[in-house]
Amino acid sequence: ASARLTRRVPALWAGITEAFKKDTDPKKINLGVGAYRDADGKPYVLPSVLAAEDKVIAQRSDKEYLPITGLADFTKAAAVLAYGEDSLPLKEGRVAITQSLSGTGALRIAGAFLARHYPHAKSIYLPAPTWGNHIPIMKDSGLEVKTYAYYDKKTVGLDFEGLKRDMREAPNKSVFLLHACAHNPTGIDPTREQWKEISKIMKEKEHFPLIDNAYLGFASGSVDNDAFMLRHFVSEGHQLLLCQSFAKNMGLYGERVGTFSVVCADKEEKARVDSQIKINGNDRVWASKLWIPELTSGLPRSLVRPMYSNPPVHGARVASTLLTDKALNQQWLAEVKVMADRIITMRSTLYDLLNELGSKREWGHIKSQIGMFAYLGISPEQVDRLAKEHHVYLTRDGRISVAGITNHNVRHLAESLHAVTKD
Ligand code: PMP
Repeated sequence: ASARLTRRVPALWAGITEAFKKDTDPKKINLGVGAYRDADGKPYVLPSVLAAEDKVIAQRSDKEYLPITGLADFTKAAAVLAYGEDSLPLKEGRVAITQSLSGTGALRIAGAFLARHYPHAKSIYLPAPTWGNHIPIMKDSGLEVKTYAYYDKKTVGLDFEGLKRDMREAPNKSVFLLHACAHNPTGIDPTREQWKEISKIMKEKEHFPLIDNAYLGFASGSVDNDAFMLRHFVSEGHQLLLCQSFAKNMGLYGERVGTFSVVCADKEEKARVDSQIKINGNDRVWASKLWIPELTSGLPRSLVRPMYSNPPVHGARVASTLLTDKALNQQWLAEVKVMADRIITMRSTLYDLLNELGSKREWGHIKSQIGMFAYLGISPEQVDRLAKEHHVYLTRDGRISVAGITNHNVRHLAESLHAVTKD
């Protein structure tokens, strides 16, 4: 193999974890991990998940393959969770949905779907910055990656004017990836009024939204609240793609549970999209308004089958139980709120301590940002000092996982942050 093929490119946070492991100081804190930690800093399995798992195991189901599009009970319930009980496209039977390998797998299907079936653009606009894996996923799907303005360094807030400008200047019918809530890495979300404006511009420009929903319920503790953006876009008549993950809100990280769905114009279009997702072979009978089949390339039409054949069954059974068993569903929603609330409390504790320590900096963004991550607005040099002098580890963009903060380590974090930012 050539040197280029064998060269190792260390992932940003893998380097942090490595350095964290090597550090022997008992005060050390790892704020690089994108997974929830409980009040003692330990990985957390939700009690509702354990109960659902018991129920699944008691059924002694077989381990046969699922259909290409996964467990129908699960995808149906997942769609209702995201789009809402009263969703018009769901009622009209025009949402095509397939189970996916969590959010990443859904994004990969979305990328392949756009590359193969969206005739208007072979590029995708991602917010600057965005979750690191968005870029390779979309490139790997054969799309050209472009960016739109999102983060404003000066205000540690949203660059709303820049965002609107970039949407207006992009060619009509461009694809834009939007984070539904709890933007990763910045924790900065548009307000409801801003989402309404974004929706309007995207309608005028006929842009096509790809919505990444990795934190439903996890951001505010309320599914309905966190689903506002998606449901607003749907109610405004957008056709869109949705990638849903149950990694964070159910803590099912390694089970790889998610969905990919397409809001279609009508039932006929849904039938065509369904076939593009699942049918193997080269049938070219479907011609669609929006989704043109690959008439010339001779590629197999199924997106899922050549990638992984069919999705894993266990996690989907657990998620399905949590979504459909009334009592377990209530328990799960309450536990989602506990996780979200702990994160919100840690944000204000950190903020209060920084002020108590006499920091002259404005840290309001720590409290106002949403979801698992906080973007501190500090320099890479300050991040390096946090690691070297204070045993606090985070990515060099200044992002911390708030889920990694506990009552035991928050004071050390505040003192360290104050120490590296006071002059
Ligand atoms: N999208 C965003 C914005 C994320 O932060 C993540 C997880 N870090 C994902 C998608 C995908 O995660 P998973 O594949 O574990 O569902």
